[in-house]
Amino acid sequence: MDAVSVPFTTDDYRARMKGAAQAAAAEGLDGLLVTPGPDLLWLTGYQPTAITERLTLLVLREDAEPQLLVPILERPDAESAAGAGAVTITDWRDGTDPYTAATPLLRSDGEYAISDSAWAMHLLGLQARAPKTRYSSVTERLPMLRAVKDPAELARLEAAGAAADATFREIVKVPFVGRKETDVAADLARLLREFGHEQVDFTVVGSGPNGANPHHEAGDRTILAGDMVVLDFGGLMHGYGSDTTRTVCVGEPTAEMREVHDVVRAAQQTAFEAVRPGIACQEVDRVARRVITEAGYGDEFIHRTGHGIGMTTHEPPYMVEGEWRPTVPGMCFSIEPGIYLAGRFGVRIEDIVTVTEDGGRRFNDTDHGLTIVE
Ligand code: ZN
Ligand code: ZN
Ligand code: ZN
Repeated sequence: MDAVSVPFTTDDYRARMKGAAQAAAAEGLDGLLVTPGPDLLWLTGYQPTAITERLTLLVLREDAEPQLLVPILERPDAESAAGAGAVTITDWRDGTDPYTAATPLLRSDGEYAISDSAWAMHLLGLQARAPKTRYSSVTERLPMLRAVKDPAELARLEAAGAAADATFREIVKVPFVGRKETDVAADLARLLREFGHEQVDFTVVGSGPNGANPHHEAGDRTILAGDMVVLDFGGLMHGYGSDTTRTVCVGEPTAEMREVHDVVRAAQQTAFEAVRPGIACQEVDRVARRVITEAGYGDEFIHRTGHGIGMTTHEPPYMVEGEWRPTVPGMCFSIEPGIYLAGRFGVRIEDIVTVTEDGGRRFNDTDHGLTIVE
């Protein structure tokens, strides 16, 4: 078994739950309420497979042991999760009220952070049974809960990045001219799986004018000679995400295409070189944006510079104006400036970067030059 396949242990999950409870207390909260989703998976290793209209609720408090309330029919699955050894599991039955079952786990006038993805139905149920409790979202109060990765998580993200890079090195060998975007997207998905991804989440192939729409996925357009093509792809490997973008040209680029690509490349490089512990996340955005603005394309850089990545592709920390929190060693995020010339073409270059003790380290290292494809 290679290092990235070694599963997380009960002790790992115990430490994560303890840290989360402490972080909630430090934030002045009585605890943290977690419903199914990436936070629950990260904290306990448990991901219910069933539709979650039935309440599943992890309650973390600094002054009590972790408690997990589950529907009784889900109990065997919950008990088989690696983190189950570090929680007390209680259950409720169909035909009884799950919110009444949950209230003994809460302080009657407590203030809690609750998962962003908690169903409104569940939050409303808790509020109805415990009317003096108060809630805010995890992203509002504890945004950096999962942001600093431990060495085992970093190894997974690095492996996912290497697989995405291997995918890029192969995709530039496939034919582009005369094929549809969806054909190239299918090649990307096949390659990501071949290089070890268990899940493919997105395969953006934005050719010509479609490249000017940052979230265009892939469509029926036939790729033509002279097109710039934005390739942005990723998924999950060993449970952790990859996400990389390169822009290629089908045949010879124009002088303008080269210039725009050079500007984006310089912005990406300058922002990468700015990464070090303690700088505000927004500073990474400002550095990239300054390069693009000074080159005259400020209005064409229409999104934030980056997003955190881990068990999900988009998560805190966000490299965006207004995010004043400092970067910390072990944080992982994208640096992905772009320029989008509406109706014509787009350019984006994206690497995943981790903060080290003395700077930044890339998890993607394919060539930043403008690759010519056929
Ligand atoms: Zn995106
Ligand atoms: Zn991307
Ligand atoms: Zn991204």
